[in-house]
Amino acid sequence: TKDDVKGFFIRNAFVIFTVAAVIIGIILGFALRPYKMSYREVKFFSFPGELLMRMLQMLVLPLLVSSLITGMAALDSRASGKMGMRAVIYYTTTTVIAVFIGIVMVLIIHPGKGSKDEFTNKQTVEQVSPADAFLDLIRNMFPPNLVEACTKQFKTQYAKRVVRVTMTVNDTIFAVNGSHEITREEMIPVPGSVNGVNALGLVVFSMCFGLIIGSMREQGQPLKDFFDCLNEAIMRLVAIIMWYAPIGILFLIAGKIVEMDDITSMGGQLGMYTVTVISGLLIHAIFVLPTLYFVITRKNPFVFIAGLLQALVTALGTSSSSATLPITFKCLEENNNVDKRVTRFVLPVGATINMDGTALYEALAAIFIAQVNDYDLNFGQILTISITATAASIGAAGIPQAGLVTMVIVLTSVGLPTDDITLIIAVDWFLDRLRTTTNVLGDSIGAGIVEHLSRHELEKKDPEAWNSVVEE
Ligand code: ASP
Repeated sequence: TKDDVKGFFIRNAFVIFTVAAVIIGIILGFALRPYKMSYREVKFFSFPGELLMRMLQMLVLPLLVSSLITGMAALDSRASGKMGMRAVIYYTTTTVIAVFIGIVMVLIIHPGKGSKDEFTNKQTVEQVSPADAFLDLIRNMFPPNLVEACTKQFKTQYAKRVVRVTMTVNDTIFAVNGSHEITREEMIPVPGSVNGVNALGLVVFSMCFGLIIGSMREQGQPLKDFFDCLNEAIMRLVAIIMWYAPIGILFLIAGKIVEMDDITSMGGQLGMYTVTVISGLLIHAIFVLPTLYFVITRKNPFVFIAGLLQALVTALGTSSSSATLPITFKCLEENNNVDKRVTRFVLPVGATINMDGTALYEALAAIFIAQVNDYDLNFGQILTISITATAASIGAAGIPQAGLVTMVIVLTSVGLPTDDITLIIAVDWFLDRLRTTTNVLGDSIGAGIVEHLSRHELEKKDPEAWNSVVEE
């Protein structure tokens, strides 16, 4: 009946709007391509999308901090220890599987042919040693100044040296320095830093802080209430932004399609490489993760994934798993009814360190570059690539194209030319969106699995220990 149709529409409004936004965005983008807009016109055109990005990023910090603190404070240290163990085992297992898939795919399909003639972008990239990068990863866990950690962009992400990859297209220098493309004027003085806050440092701090507050019982209550209330208020803001999200996504996607390089010129090795990455990501996202979810929880993974649709599309539109975090929270808690004690604990950490798509991509891309250079990798080197790709995915911030930057570590570890990162730049914006979507899916399925495994601890509610969160 008419009421049924109306009811269906209302219940699924978000999903319908979001899917419509993607479709209209793609159509609009291709329809406007022939007009060859200038860089500035494209920026004007995608302005509504840029606003969405900014709104989401605005909420990420308070959300990350408040959810982790309340999440940790709500658990007694034994329960959080167990839950943490499960999360870590899940993150490690899925990342290792992802890297494995990436390596197998690139070895089987073998997209690189041992000639670099067809690539046009050739630039220099600064060297970074894996040791520097590793020390920086640890360093960033302990931000010397918390306020600065929230505001300052990573200046010295890799020791003292700054990684920067640039290329020129129509007289515009695109600097892959994290998130945005900048013009030649803006390049001087070169910002040269990876955009974004030190999320890892904030995660570590908030977790410890939450644990301490939780252990303080009544004395810690005011702080618990404060962060609980902050978290709730932020989530209400997220609910409002979600209505705007489809518009933002539409323009983000359309804008990107308008400005992308000609696809027809992307034949040959780069095309095969793209296909290889897409196949690897698809196997991981559509087969491996759902199977894992089913085997462990015995529930239908695709029902779970359907509830995540808006988060996945937001990841596709923003290419940032941290900007998507607010939406991921909403989808998991409201559509999939995942316990808040789990999401608050597992999601912020996952968005920061668990990046299956990025790990898969980095291992695959490094081996592709070896193939292009006709460089035979032995087993030990492939093992080194898998370890450094895992580390690089942990170190990569959840911002656009961070994975491309941390790839320098992987290449250096086996002596491959880091300059060759520029070979794959032309398609990275697209692959970045897909790996970000995979990253968000991995975090979300992880929350579902950890919730299932922790159900006994979650059931025996100890009012003393859980109080604030349980009340909701
Ligand atoms: N853009 C990705 C993310 O936000 C990171 C990457 O570049 O791989 O998850």
